[in-house]
Amino acid sequence: MTLLDKDTYRHKGLRKELVALLAKKGITDRKVLAAIERVPRHLFLGDDNIFDVKAYEDIAFPIGEGQTISQPYTVAYQSQLLEILPKEQVLEIGTGSGYQAAVLAELGAKVYSIERHRKLYDKTRTTLNELGYKAVKMFFGDGFEGLETFAPFDKIIITAAAPHVPEKLLSQLMLGGQMVLPLEIDGATKMVRITRLEEKEFDQEIFAEAAFVPMLKGKVF
Ligand code: SAH
Repeated sequence: MTLLDKDTYRHKGLRKELVALLAKKGITDRKVLAAIERVPRHLFLGDDNIFDVKAYEDIAFPIGEGQTISQPYTVAYQSQLLEILPKEQVLEIGTGSGYQAAVLAELGAKVYSIERHRKLYDKTRTTLNELGYKAVKMFFGDGFEGLETFAPFDKIIITAAAPHVPEKLLSQLMLGGQMVLPLEIDGATKMVRITRLEEKEFDQEIFAEAAFVPMLKGKVF
């Protein structure tokens, strides 16, 4: 029995309901909704089947090491702000469960994802391999450094609350490229989209408040 055999009609039905809920909550991008409908979120929550049904409620979940898989609405919202086009090179900071990376892969992106927690990195690499997400390349490292070797990126997504905009990530963004991140602004965490207009000229849009685990420096072995 492969992991994918554990994605039943019941789960697919629950995903349809989740997608309807996300549309009701204001997600309008049909490609994002279609991607969410394809990714078996319950298989990203670990081995415990208790999570089967809960996986399709619009809530965040603990995934071990004090980390969480983002709420489906947040994943959809960040994906929508990124406006992914097929074949785009996307850098993700904070692989976590791998769920957001899988959604980006379903949108046709080539995903480079960095995780600072060794155990999460190992576990998620197995999951993404078993599910056949070949478009996702995983890296164990500190996201503040980015991935110089594969830069520049069309899009960058940070899935942990950043204390400031990481300088190196700005420099690894393509001209015209965009970065979506939860950013600490005046004691609150706000969703922000930064567009690189010129070599040294950036535009910043600020959106709604959001809850995330913190983006931390260094690696955890
Ligand atoms: N995208 C994930 C969300 C996981 S929560 C998902 O879909 O499940 C955020 C993740 O960011 C955690 O796994 C945390 O360990 C990781 N993280 C925090 N700071 C980081 C950093 N500097 N570099 C890489 N990963 C980081």
